[in-house]
Amino acid sequence: MEADSKPKKSGARLCCVCNQNRAALKRPKTLEQICRECFYAVFEEEIHQVILENQLFKPGDRIAIGASGGKDSTVLAYVLSELNRRHNYGLDLFLLSVDEGITGYRDDSLETVKRNELQYGLPLKIVSYKDLYGWTMDEIVKMIGLKNNCTFCGVFRRQALDRGAALLKVDKVATGHNADDIAETVLLNILRGDIARLSRCTSIITGEDGPIPRCKPFKCTYEKEIVMYAYFKKLDYFSTECIYSPNAYRGFAREFIKDLERIRPRAILDIIKSGEDFRISTTTKMPEQGTCERCGYISSQKWCKACVLLEGLNRGLPKLGIGRTQGLNSDAKISNGMVIQEESVQGQLFCTNQVNPEDQFFGFYICKK
Ligand code: SF4
Repeated sequence: MEADSKPKKSGARLCCVCNQNRAALKRPKTLEQICRECFYAVFEEEIHQVILENQLFKPGDRIAIGASGGKDSTVLAYVLSELNRRHNYGLDLFLLSVDEGITGYRDDSLETVKRNELQYGLPLKIVSYKDLYGWTMDEIVKMIGLKNNCTFCGVFRRQALDRGAALLKVDKVATGHNADDIAETVLLNILRGDIARLSRCTSIITGEDGPIPRCKPFKCTYEKEIVMYAYFKKLDYFSTECIYSPNAYRGFAREFIKDLERIRPRAILDIIKSGEDFRISTTTKMPEQGTCERCGYISSQKWCKACVLLEGLNRGLPKLGIGRTQGLNSDAKISNGMVIQEESVQGQLFCTNQVNPEDQFFGFYICKK
């Protein structure tokens, strides 16, 4: 009788790490059966190792965490705070958010970031498109419709983050781009023949020639594991998709990578590795970095893309600023037609607000995803 009253252990798999607790999940990255506590430990330790091996930070650095309120940036803020304390990184951490002016989406997600500010004790700075450019995304979409809206949004976000980072006087911006995001960007840059971006989209630190470098501590972290970590830790994050999110092309690339991952989990890391190992032919013409004649921001053209797009908006001719390049970036072409290249595959900036199928696994979506 006594034996019957004991919990039955048979059939319950033990954690492959501690070999004591019951396994609570199968790690998407390795397919190992693992308990929650060991999952937290290996998840955090892998990020710590990525930070050390790539020397992402140094003691005394002021670091802005690009915070959207979505799962990636929320987990990043949480984990970086933990690691900073645990390993004495000596970092001053801040949350930096961009308010694009999207009613019913960003206003709600910013409320999450404001709660994160209190929960993690990290000072928050919000910069808005309205203040910086005189336009909200709601106003831009009203003028241009739902095509190319993400091009405007992506170009403006890049500068907005840099300007916010400058106001905070930080040394670096850390973003929540994860391994899945980077693999998608590698694939998209190949599909679009964008060699310049292909050559830099796998870099864990970018923008070292610009005003403030950016880094991706989640470069080797799988999106599914970020989802699980946020879910099990009951972190407070925002899970609604941007109301203006289209970007079907990236969506197809994402689906393709998810299919590959289902068959072979390492596929994500292997795509990133392939991107890293590409050698750019010496005959390939690469853009030369300069500064925008109008606002002084880094640009490979006479005017930076934000200025070109703003000029189009302010002249009531927003579509003049949109298009594929095909040699249209010369000064004459810019002054004639203000044509810029689509920005959507620029890995460092793309919005992760588009639908993420894996989030549906847990019934949410994120900005990121
Ligand atoms: Fe901006 Fe992202 Fe929304 Fe596009 S999906 S409008 S880039 S927030």
